[in-house]
Amino acid sequence: MNGFMGRLLLVDLTSGRLSEEALDSGLMHQFVGGAGFAARYLYDRIDVHTDPLGPENPLLFMTGPLVGTAAPLCGRYEVCARSPQTGLWGESNSGGRFGPFLRFSGYDGVLFTGKAARPTYLAIRDGHAELRDAAHLWGKDTYETQEAIQAELQGTKLSIACIGVAGEGLVKYAAVINDWGRAAGRTGMGAVMGSKNLKAIAVGGQGQVPLANPDAFSAAVQATIEAVKEDVKGQFLTAGGTASTVDTTMWMGDIPNKHYSMALWEPVAKLGGGTMAETILTGQKACYRCVIGCGRVTRIGGRHATESIDGPEYETVAAYGSLILSDDLEGTAYASHLCNRFGLDTISAGSTIAFAYQLYNRGILTSKDTGGLKLDWGDIEPALTLTKQIAHREGLGDLLAEGSRALGRRYGVEDQAIQVNGLELPMHDPRAFVGMGLVYATSPRGACHNQGDMFLVDLGAPVPELDIQLGNRLESSEEKALMTSRVMDWRTLYNSLVMCVFCNPSADLVLDLLNGATGWNLSRDELLPLGQRAFQMKRLLNGKLGLTAANDRLPKPVLQPLVDPAVETQPPDMSILLPAYYRIRDWDEFTGMPSAGRMTELGLQDLVAH
Ligand code: SF4
Repeated sequence: MNGFMGRLLLVDLTSGRLSEEALDSGLMHQFVGGAGFAARYLYDRIDVHTDPLGPENPLLFMTGPLVGTAAPLCGRYEVCARSPQTGLWGESNSGGRFGPFLRFSGYDGVLFTGKAARPTYLAIRDGHAELRDAAHLWGKDTYETQEAIQAELQGTKLSIACIGVAGEGLVKYAAVINDWGRAAGRTGMGAVMGSKNLKAIAVGGQGQVPLANPDAFSAAVQATIEAVKEDVKGQFLTAGGTASTVDTTMWMGDIPNKHYSMALWEPVAKLGGGTMAETILTGQKACYRCVIGCGRVTRIGGRHATESIDGPEYETVAAYGSLILSDDLEGTAYASHLCNRFGLDTISAGSTIAFAYQLYNRGILTSKDTGGLKLDWGDIEPALTLTKQIAHREGLGDLLAEGSRALGRRYGVEDQAIQVNGLELPMHDPRAFVGMGLVYATSPRGACHNQGDMFLVDLGAPVPELDIQLGNRLESSEEKALMTSRVMDWRTLYNSLVMCVFCNPSADLVLDLLNGATGWNLSRDELLPLGQRAFQMKRLLNGKLGLTAANDRLPKPVLQPLVDPAVETQPPDMSILLPAYYRIRDWDEFTGMPSAGRMTELGLQDLVAH
């Protein structure tokens, strides 16, 4: 089975039994791997009665056919389960080396079921898997945990994915952290690990991914590396990291300010990649076989002085910066570091804290609620305190650990929380790119930018080979809905491959990589349908978990206009976008589910009766 190691490791944490299962080549052909395969595989194992934090919730770590090969920017993995944050499909991915090292250990993926009686970690070294005691690791942060396991398992070069105290405490948006500061942040997969008493997974070995056509694959790899190096977006990321665009896209209203209430806040430029390079930057980091290296290494001084730490990403400088009107770059770097150590999603943590700031400044939250903390706009210190409280579920942090929807619910303002289905919006305001509104409203995991980066397309990065064309970023139209659906299918395929979304060679090169690795001999016309199959699969699974058309809604505040003559913005017109999108997807207007005809077209006819 070229392109795959050919087997999954099955770990029953309740009994401690380890076993193996051969990968189903038919399923891989249909769903490619990664999150697409995971959705089909978990569809048979999850239903509406599955408690996301119960032993019955299966947790799948999965790679794809390009992971661990010489293909650039394919060193990623997906982790999937029913999400404790949303109650729906949970999916998160991360870079670093963990995905490739899992394959080198001999497996394409690991399925965890049940719950260990005591804190436990899994080690897989060269095909040999064992469960080990993790009682001494419980309570340690993610960096300490990785260091301790590295010291324990000397002899094999390892990559470790683990949780911190946030996952142990079942914070709803607890992350899985690997390779020091790389995070599978979204949808609370760290809490699922914590609910299973699973502290970490350490993987390594000498395995190699078999390739169908090594020569063709190698030629595609070289051509892809050249294409990525020539891509201006990639060059920006190399030079300035993910925060490199802060001071340009702010002029479009892309970066949200003051909890989504201001179009423009110029001090945000002090949080960008340029300022970072001039102040706290000490180096760069790259995931496995990445020629971009968007990761930043920083050192901060002053009151939170640290040695070298992972630098803040774009999402973090917005969530802990502009959302609370703080231009304190060292403070946001420290917030990022805290989240990584505790194992927290910086988007959900920062956004929930910013919502608390807003409620405090409107007099809805009082000093009694905050334990005396003054949540003044512009002051990051209380946000850092709240981050610690969230991780340890102390004080107000215990409520914030449930997310912004729960915070809004408690104070009767749920409609002001910036979330879709419980997942906080990433830091691209849909009033700057209306296509993002449609992406957020309909993404399988709640408000998600990885399932469709329309901001990038409408900034000038179309995919003409797949007829994904540049459009007017503020125009709500049938055409926008069509382009959005195509981008979502394309990025869904990326999450199956599993490939970094910053890797943007031509679609034909992606095809050459996939065919060279697997020997599937697919044509270009089959790429988007492959993505759509996985996308509709996730939709069906969400339907099984209770999602209907009523879930496809944006939060009220981002449907209000932003008034600032210096910045042109426009709320997405969902009365145009959503019906058009439903027609394109062939979704029922009430159930929100795809028609039997569309399912059959996509080869999902076996699920029609469900
Ligand atoms: S571009 Fe950044 S996130 Fe993507 S693979 Fe490279 S280092 Fe990792």
